[in-house]
Amino acid sequence: MIPYGRQSITDEDIEAVVAVLKSDYLTQGEKVPAFEQGLADYCQVPHVIACSNGTTALHLACAALDLEADDWVWVSAISFVASANCARYCGAQVDFIDVEPETGNLCVAALREKLQRVQGSPRQPKALVAVHLAGQPCDLAEIGALCRQYGVHLIEDACHALGASYQGQPIGSCAHSDMTVFSFHPVKPITTGEGGAVTTRSAALAARLRLYRSHGITREPAQLNVDAPGGWYYEQQVLGFNYRLTDIQAALGASQLRRLPQFIEQRQQLAARYDELLTRLPAQPLRQMDDRRSGYHLYVVQVADRDRVFAQLREAGIGVNVHYMPIPAQPYYRGLGHDPAAYPGAQAYYRQAISLPLYPTLSLAEQDQVVRALESVLCA
Ligand SMILES: *Cc1c(COP(=O)(O)O)cnc(C)c1O
Repeated sequence: MIPYGRQSITDEDIEAVVAVLKSDYLTQGEKVPAFEQGLADYCQVPHVIACSNGTTALHLACAALDLEADDWVWVSAISFVASANCARYCGAQVDFIDVEPETGNLCVAALREKLQRVQGSPRQPKALVAVHLAGQPCDLAEIGALCRQYGVHLIEDACHALGASYQGQPIGSCAHSDMTVFSFHPVKPITTGEGGAVTTRSAALAARLRLYRSHGITREPAQLNVDAPGGWYYEQQVLGFNYRLTDIQAALGASQLRRLPQFIEQRQQLAARYDELLTRLPAQPLRQMDDRRSGYHLYVVQVADRDRVFAQLREAGIGVNVHYMPIPAQPYYRGLGHDPAAYPGAQAYYRQAISLPLYPTLSLAEQDQVVRALESVLCA
């Protein structure tokens, strides 16, 4: 089976991990801050807080905004469920914003309309989680401007989009948002096994993110309620978590980060080759916007009769996948009263979407095999 995504691990990656295993610190040594600095340099952002996975990164972002019960958080209707669950962990209420069927990204017109509709009501959102689906940045300038106008905090869910750029600025720079969240799961742009990070330009949010990452505990003299009576002294100031990344994982991340430009280049070249090979087939790639560069975490095409195409490609040994069923269609969210029919863009996207295999080490022969299988399924 050719998988839809997979990691690329070299001997250098392995040596970096082994070196940590032979060192004094497996966690809370120097590798995590070094990885954070590498990400900060790459993303051109002052603050990076690495953590245990993308889901905990999203939860930290919500906690840092002091989200609580009665607060509303809006989320792109097409994403992985973690984009919405993070708000529920804080007890906040979730609502969804429809997407554009040609990109799967948040629809600015739907966002504007809903913001106008709830203005002044208790349903006014405190935060918006905007997803960069498949690695293509959403309309950050327009979304950021609307969020500022209505006093909404903007969290970018960039779990697909490390290495992507928007109007020349790297995703993660937070040029239009309060915080950006990454995942380092093995199928994502770089991996630490499990891992995640939050980036921000705000020193205050960075301090809150660090506090929540490690039990709500601080030793920073400037943050303490009293003068420390001794070197052992720390204070727990909020109900935080243990969401730390280990040095073992951070060493792998730093090693992977060095190859990120190469990974993105390989993904973009393979995507361009798919675009070309698919022009004569009834399979429509996601629309790409001119002013941004996708990191191509996923290569999604839209096909008629998707369920049959999916089943027959799987049978042919092609590990296709579907990203994603609309979150409001999940039984948990239906149980909270959500109705997927309220998101026609998301439904149209989902009905036809299928992700073809795409990862840096996918060979041209494997890619040809995928295209041949797709052709025989679509043109049978
Ligand atoms: C992978 C992913 C997450 C969660 O990341 P984990 O590291 O698996 O916890 C959240 N949002 C999106 C869009 C993702 O793709």
